[in-house]
Amino acid sequence: MKRAVVAALLLAAAPALADDTYVSKKDRERAAKSTSHGAPPVPGKKPAKLVNLYNQHTHDWLAVDPLAPPSLGEIDLFLRDHFTNETTKMDPKLIPAVVEAAKQFKSDFVSVVSGFRHPKYNLMLRKKGHQVARDSQHTHGNAIDFQIPTCSTKKLHAWAKAQKLGGVGLYLNSAFVHIDTGPIRYWSGD
Ligand SMILES: [Zn+2]
Repeated sequence: MKRAVVAALLLAAAPALADDTYVSKKDRERAAKSTSHGAPPVPGKKPAKLVNLYNQHTHDWLAVDPLAPPSLGEIDLFLRDHFTNETTKMDPKLIPAVVEAAKQFKSDFVSVVSGFRHPKYNLMLRKKGHQVARDSQHTHGNAIDFQIPTCSTKKLHAWAKAQKLGGVGLYLNSAFVHIDTGPIRYWSGD
């Protein structure tokens, strides 16, 4: 009698097991669909690394996926002036330069100190006595101040100068580097 019960249970369990397998396969397919965006990864190839940018003022994040890079609009929004909340057309060379720096220092994270500065905000900083140029490249959407936790400010500064992208500022006490796409020139501040 007992044996018969066990057999019946096994029979009853068998279709359930088959059903579970079916469901999990469906779930796998659904999961694969929902997480795929941009170009599908090439099988057998290690996917290129994602670099996550963090804006210290707005607390926004911007993930830079080499397979599906952010649009210029997303970049402009990410680098907006936090004081006026206004955006401008940022120079498209800035984010690739910052991502390149992250790769150079094996970091998947970049902390952004400053991107676009509205002239109103720039003037306010000047009045408060901050070391801010009157016609700062930040007000033209041509500059970004950033730091990378895996390297020293000095090393990041040396790397930035070697790129010859434009202006490079070293801010040792504040632990960030300024890069801009204006004329090549170098300075240091606090
Ligand atoms: Zn700057």
